[in-house]
Parts: sequence; C-alpha cells; structure tokens
Amino acid sequence: MELKTTTDIRIIKADSSKINSVDFENLTFGNIFTDHMLICDYNNGKWEQPVIMPYEPFTLDPSAKVFHYGQAIFEGMKAYKDEHDDVWLFRPDQNFDRFNKSAVRLAMPEVPEDVFLGGLHKLLEIEKEWVKKGFGNALYIRPFMIATGSGVVAAPSTQYRFTIILSPAKSYYSGEVKVVIAEHFSRAANGGIGAAKAAGNYSGQFYPTKLANEQGFQQIIWTDDATHTKLEEAGTMNVFFRINDTLYTAPISERILDGVTRKSIIELATKEGIDVQVRPVLVDEIVEAAKNGTLQEIFGAGTAAVVNPIVGFSYKETYYELPKPENSFATFIKQQLTGIQYKQIEDTFGWTVKI
Ligand SMILES: *Cc1c(COP(=O)(O)O)cnc(C)c1O
Repeated sequence: MELKTTTDIRIIKADSSKINSVDFENLTFGNIFTDHMLICDYNNGKWEQPVIMPYEPFTLDPSAKVFHYGQAIFEGMKAYKDEHDDVWLFRPDQNFDRFNKSAVRLAMPEVPEDVFLGGLHKLLEIEKEWVKKGFGNALYIRPFMIATGSGVVAAPSTQYRFTIILSPAKSYYSGEVKVVIAEHFSRAANGGIGAAKAAGNYSGQFYPTKLANEQGFQQIIWTDDATHTKLEEAGTMNVFFRINDTLYTAPISERILDGVTRKSIIELATKEGIDVQVRPVLVDEIVEAAKNGTLQEIFGAGTAAVVNPIVGFSYKETYYELPKPENSFATFIKQQLTGIQYKQIEDTFGWTVKI
C-alpha cells in the first residue's frame, strides 16, 4: 500500500525544534508533543487546504459544539523506525477507514484520504527525527476531529477541525493488570456509539473505572448491556481468552470497537497454527474454566500496549487468579506483531507501509 500525497499542503515551519530538550528515556505516555501538527478545517460544506504548522493551542468560541454536544472522534496509531532509519506505519488504511466510519456515526463530515493519509505522510516526513530507533520506541499518532461551529442549538455543527498531533512514546507497560467483570455499568449499548472511536465512549467509562480502581482493579471487562453475560472489551482494548490452547474473542458488533490489533492477532495467530474462535464469550464459561483450571490467559489488545496480559479477574465478589503458562500466547503474539512492526520479522501480510 502507498500513501497518497496529492494534496497541496501549506507548511509553516517552527522557528526552532524542542527535540533536544526532550528526555526520550523517561517519557510518560502522551504528555510531550512534536514541533508540528496538521490541521484542516471544514467550512461551507468543504474541506479547506490542510496546514502543517507549529504545535500550539486552539482558540475556539465557548459555544463551540464540541464543548456542549460532544461531537469528537479520534484515532490512535504508531510510527516505528527500523534498523535502517526508515519510518513505518502499521495498517494505516484501517485507521483511516475506521475514522470515517466514526465520523458518519457522529454526523460529522468524512475526511478525504489525501488529507488524513497524505497529510500524515507529510507530517511524519517533517517529524521523522522524533521517531526513535530501538525496540519499544515509537511515535504515537493522534488524529482527531472536533465540531468547531459556534451556537448552543442542539444540532450537528457545520464547521469542523481535523487535526493530527504526534507524541513520542516508550513501550507501554502498565504493571500487573487485575480486572473486574462489569455487572452493572456498560461501555456501549445496541444502537449506541460503541463501535465508533468517539470521545464520549471514554468519558462514560471513567467513573465506573474509577470505582474499580478504588477496589484495587486496574480495568473493567465490559459485558453486553442487555444481559451482562457476554464478555466484550477490556478497558479500552479488545479482549482475548485462552482456554486450553484455543483463543476466543467476541465478534465485532455495535458494542465492540473493530480494533486493528484484534484483527491482526486473529490473522497472525491463525497463520501460526493457533486455533482462534470468534464467537460470543460467556462470563459463565470463563468462570467455569477458571474453576476447572482450563483458563490459561486473558489479554487485552490495542495499539498502545499491543498485548496487555491480565493476571486475574473478579466476578460477583470472587477473585480468580490466572496461571502463568510457560508458552504464553500473549508473549508469543506480542513478539510476532512487534517484530513485524519494527521490521525484524518479515511482513508476509503486507501490513507495514513505509514513509
Ligand atoms: C482504540 C480501541 C481499541 C483498540 O483498537 P486498535 O485499533 O487495536 O488500537 C479497542 N477498544 C476500544 C474501545 C478502543 O477505543
């Protein structure tokens, strides 16, 4: 896959770079941003010329619709540097497609490919020094769109801003993750916006997650809103369960985000000879498997951590500790996937795209 760079992009360079003041060895996730950002405004029914400009605050009218009605969507991607100093993206077409699906669901305009992918390509060319070599180093990419039109009437905005910002990141280790299975709260509901990468899905998650944190759990495994009997996502990640040597994950639905990491794991694990079953995963069968010792692993899957192993879960006040199998699927899959992303393992899938 090639990234198109047809759009004429206006480029305003920063006077100086702050790169030398950044301690790349001690980054905390998502706090530092590169010298430039890309913005593209939507006015009068069309997208204007994209601009790459110095990273700086926005000025918005206090009545801008994003503040009142939450028209806000985003994506999360990473750029990686290989041994030869080449910069690579992982399946960026998937993020582009998903972004526009999110846009449609939030009644926002779709972003043209040459603005999203072409603009990202150009921005990364300018910021390639910020992508550090070495396993675990990456440049986190955050494209997002907000409703900038003013007026508190509850209707979709007619003005929007698409933006891409970039943040250098080290490999993400969240410590031991214990989760609680949701019995009351829901992340998403049928007919809702759970399948969109919308800001509102995150704000709704913070309070139940805070309650879980207070009880010593890092994350919640979300269940279906109607019956709370099916396991759907872990925090803001898709989730996999290993019973004996079979991997299970729920099918994509209106309540589950179509994760790029999830779909890549399904393909990769299948190719490596692991039996992967995509079907509803019931709370009862996981509790049963934990009791009879066949539940081997649970792990979250998403761009930030790639694979995030879970050490145990709580359900109806009972805590179930997971074993630590020697041939961990989570570890194997993470090695394979990051190996492809950093160009250390041959990419037979055609997932990686060079900048
Ligand atoms: C972003 C996200 C994921 C993971 O998607 P990736 O494309 O793998 O990064 C999973 N679940 C939710 C709710 C998300 O927002």
